[in-house]
Amino acid sequence: MVGAAILLAGCASTPTIPEETISSPPVMIGENAALNWTDTNLVKKIPVVGPLKPAAPTVRTNPPPTAPPAAPVMTWTSLDRWAAENKIGPLHLIARTPVAAYAIGTANGTMVLDIGSREASWNGMEINLGFAPEFIDDQVFVHRADLRDAIVPLLFGPPLTFGNRVIVIDPGHGGSNVGTRSVLDGRFEKEFTLDWAKRLAPLLETNGWKVFLTRTSDVTVSNLDRVVFAEAHHADLFISLHFNSGAPDKKAAGLETYCLTPAGMPSTITRGWPDIWSQVFPNNAFDAQNLQLAVRVHSALLRAAGLEDRGVCHSRFDTVLRGQNRPAILIEGGFMSNPHEARLIESPEFRQKLAQAVANALR
Ligand SMILES: [Zn+2]
Repeated sequence: MVGAAILLAGCASTPTIPEETISSPPVMIGENAALNWTDTNLVKKIPVVGPLKPAAPTVRTNPPPTAPPAAPVMTWTSLDRWAAENKIGPLHLIARTPVAAYAIGTANGTMVLDIGSREASWNGMEINLGFAPEFIDDQVFVHRADLRDAIVPLLFGPPLTFGNRVIVIDPGHGGSNVGTRSVLDGRFEKEFTLDWAKRLAPLLETNGWKVFLTRTSDVTVSNLDRVVFAEAHHADLFISLHFNSGAPDKKAAGLETYCLTPAGMPSTITRGWPDIWSQVFPNNAFDAQNLQLAVRVHSALLRAAGLEDRGVCHSRFDTVLRGQNRPAILIEGGFMSNPHEARLIESPEFRQKLAQAVANALR
C-alpha cells in the first residue's frame, strides 16, 4: 500500500476527460507532420512541479528505437489510418458487445481496445490507457498521448535491455512506516515486502544481476532516500515491492503493477492526491521503457500467482517512481485486506512464487 489515504486501491477509477478534449473533433492540422514518440518537446515546455529537483534524465540503458513509426501530431488520431500508414494491417473488430472491441497487432503482440473504455489489453493482460478510444465516422480514434506512450512502445518497442544489469529492489515501508496490515492477524506489510525482496535478490544474482536492496532490515527509509540510493548505485532498473489494501473492504483482490503517468494524461488511480496532467518528472524520460518493464513483470506475476488481473496502472503520487533516472515500477502483490490473499501473502511458498516470477521476467 502506498500513500496515506485509505481508499480502495485499484484501476477501476474513471477520471473525467476534459470536455474540450472529448468534444473537439480530431484536429486535422499538422496531420502529416511526423511525431517522434520519444520527443519530449511537449513536456519540456511545462514547468516541473514536484518535491524533487528535476535532474537531467540520463539515459544509460534501454535507448529508444532509432526509427520509430511516424504518428500524426494531433490530439486524437485515427488508429485505422495510422495503422495503414505504418503498414500494420487493418484493425479487426473482435467483439460488438458489451462494447465494440478492436484488435491491432505486430510481431510484438496484440492490443485490444474497447471503445469507450480506458481498460485495454495487451497479450491478454489488462493495461490502462489515459483516454477511452472513440469511434467516429467508422474509425477508431485514440488519444495522441496513448498512441505515443502506450500503443507505439508496445507494438513497436525494441526488446527491453538491461544495461549493466544493476538493479535496486525496494522493499516497501520499514521501521515506523509499517504499511498496511493483514486482515488475519494484523502483521504489517513491511515484514512481507522485505521477505519478498530477500527471496528475490539471490534469484536475480543467479541470473547475472548485481542487486542492491534499499533496506535489508526493519528500518525507516524515506521515499526520497530510496531514489537517491538507486542513483548512487547507478541502477539500470528499480522495482518497488508492496502489498495492497482495500480496507475496510475485504473483497478487493488481485495484482497491480504501477508506472509513472506520462505527461498529458490522467492517472489510472490518484488515491486522493492531486493529479496534475502537466507535471513532468525525471522518470517521464522512461515512459516507454516503464510500460515495457511493467507488462513484462506483471505478466510473469499473473502466471505465477494466479491472482486476479487488476492491470498495469499509471499513477503520479508514488514518490519512489517520480525521481528515478531509470525504468522503474511498483508492484502491489495482492491485498492484505482480503482474507484469501492475506493467507497467501503470509505463506512463504507464495512469496517465493512472487520472487521467482519477478526474476523470470528479468531473465
Ligand atoms: Zn505499500
